[in-house]
Amino acid sequence: MPVFDKCTKTQIDQLTSAFNALIDRPALTQFDNLRESIRDRWNTRKFVCGAGTGECSGLDGAQNSERILICTFDTRRLAAVLLHELVHDCGGSELDSEAIEYTCYVGNGSQPPNGDDWYKFCKHTKEFEGNKHIRVAKFVIWNSTTGDVWVRNNNGGKPEKGTLIIDKSRFFIVPSSQKCS
Ligand SMILES: [Zn+2]
Repeated sequence: MPVFDKCTKTQIDQLTSAFNALIDRPALTQFDNLRESIRDRWNTRKFVCGAGTGECSGLDGAQNSERILICTFDTRRLAAVLLHELVHDCGGSELDSEAIEYTCYVGNGSQPPNGDDWYKFCKHTKEFEGNKHIRVAKFVIWNSTTGDVWVRNNNGGKPEKGTLIIDKSRFFIVPSSQKCS
């Protein structure tokens, strides 16, 4: 069972409902073992509840090796935020978390990338087959100039494009001033 810190009974119930919803999103099953990893993390991690101030200042959530911090309990946003932080906890980069949050919750609580996300998308990923505009993350591959995102498959460790999960979304086209290089 998860450990909760600084959470009210209502917040624990909200988090539990959010987890039960996110783990059943059909889009999650497209990623090898990710659903199982997320369930395992949920069951073994410490979740800290906060709001607006202190380490929650300016954040919806955060994750580090100690715990997962949840800063919003807006019911329209909570499941998307919890999924985002759990993907980080499974080793996902910002690109992985944003793309999986978007795929599972577009129109239903996800927020598109913004701010320093672009910097992290480029810097915390590797180029794909010598093309620096196509970036390889842990669970996804992203074309930074078209907005396409694919599931990352692994052929003997070599990344390959799998199912197309985000089709030319303007939200996933890197601003020209921040091109990956
Ligand atoms: Zn993140």
